[in-house]
Amino acid sequence: MATKPFNRREFLWGLSQSALTLLVLGRTSQQVAASDGTSPSVLVLGAGLSGLYTALLLEAKGLSVTVLEARDRVGGRVHTLDDVPGKPESGGQSLSEKYQRLLTLAQHLEVPIEAAKGFDKELLLYVRGQSVLPRDWPTSTADQLVAAERSLMPSRLLSHYLRPHNPLEDATAWTKPNHASLDIPLDEYLRAQGASKEALRLINFDPTSLMNSLETTSALWALRNDQRGKTPTQKPMHIKGGNSRLPEKMAASLKSPVQTQKVVESIRSRETDVEVHCSDGSRFRADYAVVTLPFSVLRQVEITPPLQGAQAEAVQELPYTAVTQIRFKVREPFWEKDGYPPMMWTDSLLESVFPIRDETGRVQSLVCWVNGANAKQLDAMNEEALAQFVKSELKRIRPATDGNVEIVRVISWGRDPYARGAYSHFAPGQIRQFQDKMAKPWKRIHFAGEHTAIASPGMESALESAERVTSEIFAHLK
Ligand SMILES: Cc1cc2nc3c(=O)[nH]c(=O)nc-3n(C[C@H](O)[C@H](O)[C@H](O)COP(=O)(O)OP(=O)(O)OC[C@H]3O[C@@H](n4cnc5c(N)ncnc54)[C@H](O)[C@@H]3O)c2cc1C
Repeated sequence: MATKPFNRREFLWGLSQSALTLLVLGRTSQQVAASDGTSPSVLVLGAGLSGLYTALLLEAKGLSVTVLEARDRVGGRVHTLDDVPGKPESGGQSLSEKYQRLLTLAQHLEVPIEAAKGFDKELLLYVRGQSVLPRDWPTSTADQLVAAERSLMPSRLLSHYLRPHNPLEDATAWTKPNHASLDIPLDEYLRAQGASKEALRLINFDPTSLMNSLETTSALWALRNDQRGKTPTQKPMHIKGGNSRLPEKMAASLKSPVQTQKVVESIRSRETDVEVHCSDGSRFRADYAVVTLPFSVLRQVEITPPLQGAQAEAVQELPYTAVTQIRFKVREPFWEKDGYPPMMWTDSLLESVFPIRDETGRVQSLVCWVNGANAKQLDAMNEEALAQFVKSELKRIRPATDGNVEIVRVISWGRDPYARGAYSHFAPGQIRQFQDKMAKPWKRIHFAGEHTAIASPGMESALESAERVTSEIFAHLK
C-alpha cells in the first residue's frame, strides 16, 4: 500500500468523507477485530485522546481500526464530572491557543470551545499554622523565606528559580545532548540557584509543580515545563459543556465503535500479526498494535517477546505524579462568615482548595487538590478514614468550613487502575537513560500517549503522539 506522511489537511478531508459515508450507510456494528483482509488492520489500545486521535487518523487513511478500552467510557484522563455541581474536570482542565491540533480537531468535529473561567485572583494562605492574606505575607512571621524570596507568593517560588537561567531555547531542547547535564535532582539544582530550605519545603506543596517531590524529579524536566511558560498564553479555554465532549465526539466519529470494558492483559507480536488478550477472555488480532496505555499501567501487561533494555526499564520505572482530589458541595458560603476568599494555598496535607464557579461567578463546588507525597498519604487511607481526616483537617485550617461543606466525590488518579497517576514525568537521570528509546516500535507494537510526546503539553501532547505513531505505521506499510 502506497502511503504518504501524515498531513492534517488531508486527514480532515478524509474525516469528512468518513462522516459522509456514515450518514449514507448508517453505523455498522463491527465485532471482530481481525483484518477484513482488504486493508491493513490496527488495534489501538486505550481510548484516551491519543488512542482516539490515532484511530481517526488511521481510519481516514483507509486502515481497519479497532479501539480497545478498559473503562466503560472514553476519554481516559479527560473526564468531566457531570454529576458534580459545576461539572468540574477531574482530569485535563484547560487548553490554550497553543493547542493547535486540539483546536483544529474540535472545530472540525464541531465541538465548541469557550473561554475558561481560570483561577480566582484572591486567595488565603495557610502556612505554619497561620492564616495570611497575600498583602500581609512578606511581613508575616509565617513567611520564613529568605532575602528576595520573602516577597514572593509560595506558588511563584519554582519559576522564580527556574526562569531567569533557563537555558532551553525551544520546546524540544530538553531532549538534546547539550542539556543532559541538567538531568539531576531538582532540589539539588534549585539549591545551586540559591533556593532556601524553606523555599524547597513550600514548593513541595504547590500543585502547579506537577511532581511527586523535588528529590525524585529531574531538573531538566522541570526546566522543560518552565520553557513552555516563557511565552504566556492568552485566556485559558475549555470545551463547552465539559472536556469529555471532545473524546466522546471523536469516538462517535469512528467507523468502528470503541470496544469498552476490554482490559488488555497481554500483547503478543508474532511474525505476521499481533494478538491481544483481554481479561474477559476475548482475543483480537491485527497487523499492528498501537499501545497508548500509560507506562504505569503497561507495567502489568505481558508483552511478548519482552521489551528490551532501556525501553523495558522505562515501562517499569517512569514515574507518574499522584493527584488526589476531594470534591465538596457547599452548604453555606463559609467565606462570607470569616471574610476570607474561598481559594486557599496551604502547607498542610490538603495543599490547595479551589472554588468551581459558574458563568455568573457563583461558587458551585470546591476541590481540594493534593499532589505527590501528600496525595499518596491520602490514598493510603480507606474511604471512611479519609473523609474523617479531611473534615477535621479542613476544620483546623479553616474553622468556618465546619458543617458547611460536604464531600461528594474523591478522585484518586494514583489509585485509578487504568491511570496509576495523573501525568508522567522523569526522575533524575531518566531523560538521558531512556527518553529517546521509550517510544520506539517493538516488532509490530507501536507506542503513543502523552508520555511519548516531546514538544507539547498535556492534552495536546496526546495528539502530538498520535500524529507521530500514525506516520510510523504508514512508513511500515510503504
Ligand atoms: C488531574 C489532571 C489534570 C490535568 N490537567 C491538564 C490541563 O489542564 N491541561 C492539559 O492539557 N492536560 C492536562 N492533563 C493531562 C491530560 O489530561 C493528559 O495528558 C491526556 O489526557 C492523556 O491522554 P492519553 O491518551 O495519553 O492517556 P489516557 O487518557 O490515560 O488514555 C489511555 C487510555 O488507556 C486506557 N487503559 C488503561 N489501561 C488499559 C488496559 N489494560 N486495557 C485497555 N485500556 C486501558 C485508559 O482507560 C485510558 O482511556 C491533566 C491530567 C490529569 C490527570
